[in-house]
Amino acid sequence: MPKEMLDRPAGFFKKNLETMDPEKRFEYINRRLQGIVKYAYRHSIATKNKMDSVGLKPKDIRTVKDLENIPITKKAELMELQKRNPPLGGFGGIPIHALRRIYVSPGPLYEPGEIEYDELGWSQGMVAAGFRPGDIAINTFSYHMVPFALQMIDNSLHRIGCVTIPAGIGNTEQQVNILKALKVNAYCGTPSFLLNIAEKAEEMGLDLMKDLNLKVGFVATEMLPESLRSRLEEQFGMIIRQGYGTADIGCLGYECIKKNGMHVPDDKIVEIVDPNTRKRVGPGKPGEIVATTFNKVYPLIRFGTGDLSILTETPCPCGRTSPRLVKILGRMDQSTKVRGLFIHPGQADEVVLKHPQISRYQVVVTRKEHKDEMTFHVELKEEVSQPEKLKSEIEQSIRDVMKVRGGVQFVSKGAIPEGAKKIEDQRTWE
Ligand SMILES: [Zn+2]
Repeated sequence: MPKEMLDRPAGFFKKNLETMDPEKRFEYINRRLQGIVKYAYRHSIATKNKMDSVGLKPKDIRTVKDLENIPITKKAELMELQKRNPPLGGFGGIPIHALRRIYVSPGPLYEPGEIEYDELGWSQGMVAAGFRPGDIAINTFSYHMVPFALQMIDNSLHRIGCVTIPAGIGNTEQQVNILKALKVNAYCGTPSFLLNIAEKAEEMGLDLMKDLNLKVGFVATEMLPESLRSRLEEQFGMIIRQGYGTADIGCLGYECIKKNGMHVPDDKIVEIVDPNTRKRVGPGKPGEIVATTFNKVYPLIRFGTGDLSILTETPCPCGRTSPRLVKILGRMDQSTKVRGLFIHPGQADEVVLKHPQISRYQVVVTRKEHKDEMTFHVELKEEVSQPEKLKSEIEQSIRDVMKVRGGVQFVSKGAIPEGAKKIEDQRTWE
């Protein structure tokens, strides 16, 4: 193994923060929380209004537990407040004229770009993935309008000490030529674009290992199936790790070398909240990711991401002590309740993964005689000899994984429309 490969899996971006012992972490996070709540109450009128509406003063927020008393800000509400009071809806923590940039994400949602970007998460994630000072990195996220490529990734690469090629999206052939000519060893982009690059390079007659020099990759903004990760890692001979976040609040999780869920960065607080009761749920239980940042430029307190996940606090063998998001289970608007139990696309995927005979599926929820019924519509890769046996096996997996009974109906190939929702709620309530 070349020396370079040996040292990449070790190392931290901010070791003292990342490996703090749990008690110290608890104190550290609470201290930062008190600081940011006090700051936001004074400088962000939207936060002040929100806290006043429930009779809270900054002194009432001492620990992460107290945070639960502040109402969650949903994306739709943020958009509405921004429309009334552009660009930041009163959530900004510094005067608008002191910003360097204003980014525009679909919605539209506006995000501030500060002069000195100092959030930790993306840098932590790339270092955990094996990025090192002096690496030549290609950044294939979109640089236009949105904050991800320029604000978050480009700045974070600079903070690590990497040299960046601001390639943006598309022009696959040109990107392959750049990879080759500049001996690029670090990739930032989506997993699917890396797959495009692999296919294009092979089409151009290149050997992915010998002609290209990719050693590490940091992917985001798309789901990363394990099968795709291992295929790309093998093809290029590289390490690929993923991060998760949103345009509004930045990085909320990154994988370490152990592929053991996504560590929450040390400048964020992530809570998992039951979508129905709005109460925080304990480790191991699914719910909405609600995040708080210590960023004074845009101090969002309890921002509801609309994404579903599970948090774990079990120790990670990498040495980092932050909690981890187990995985992203899908969007809130794709989850629902069946017979009083909350179900989400991540669970449905888990059921389907147990049965490799399935090529596509859709969960359909209906109502019959005032009772919820859940049926997995299933397309098979090919006909099976004992469909009844497979049907009852899948039904057993549904009970095991989702804790609620569901039926299985085999449908013909192509019956499930392209781009269909994983969970289709057809219930009517009249
Ligand atoms: Zn770890």
